[in-house]
Amino acid sequence: MAAGNPVRGIRFASLGSGSRGNCLVVQAGRTRVMVDCGFSVAETERRLARLGLAPEDIDAVLITHEHSDHVGSAAAFSRRHRRPVWLTAGTYDALRDTDFHALRIIHAHEPLALGDLAIDPYPVPHDAREPCQFLFSDGDRRLGLLTDAGSVTPHMRRVLDGCHALLLECNHDVQMLATGPYPESLKRRVGGDFGHLANTQAEALLAEMDTGRLTHLVAMHLSEKNNTEALALEALSRALGCTPQWLDVARQEEGFGWRMA
Ligand SMILES: [Zn+2]
Ligand SMILES: [Zn+2]
Repeated sequence: MAAGNPVRGIRFASLGSGSRGNCLVVQAGRTRVMVDCGFSVAETERRLARLGLAPEDIDAVLITHEHSDHVGSAAAFSRRHRRPVWLTAGTYDALRDTDFHALRIIHAHEPLALGDLAIDPYPVPHDAREPCQFLFSDGDRRLGLLTDAGSVTPHMRRVLDGCHALLLECNHDVQMLATGPYPESLKRRVGGDFGHLANTQAEALLAEMDTGRLTHLVAMHLSEKNNTEALALEALSRALGCTPQWLDVARQEEGFGWRMA
């Protein structure tokens, strides 16, 4: 386990979120994981330093799926800093560079434990080989991550029900995508059941799930072409009946700073 001060609850921060790279850090007690490694090794090091972390502070790198904005430099980072990578068999099969320092194949329906962190992977409909997303817990507080999903299944909603913090994809505004610059085939892909969640789909999920314990809600993976922060925040605030100021957006360059659930 990494050195440093243990935390109570779950601490989390984003190194960046969007189609040009994704990386999230989650910590419980003394255990820290990185979810996805969508930036170059040097850029990941720089962004970790921004959060007061070194690569050695990361106990494992979890990969959600093989798209380049998520897998990025995972293998090179793993070799350079001797960090283990955890991913599904399907994601592993879909990768070109699988020369990891250490590897663990995970199953999208099997809970994992790593130090002070309990991790529940869950499968999502997305146009990748075996994509999954994660629910994290320190045994008390729960943090849900959901990006890169074209639709919401009852199982996904059950996993996220009652979580204390939720990082939720608001990829596009349906109208902006329809009238935007993407070619028709890409519009169909992004807007399809195996594409990305629209603001309205995020809003619908929140309306259906138990949000009674929710104290952190961050809009993730916003499209730079087909969405605005204001539209995403409006949709989320409508669902929760709160002001947009209560919510946050993860940005491509800045991600978001440490939050504690
Ligand atoms: Zn993505
Ligand atoms: Zn993807």
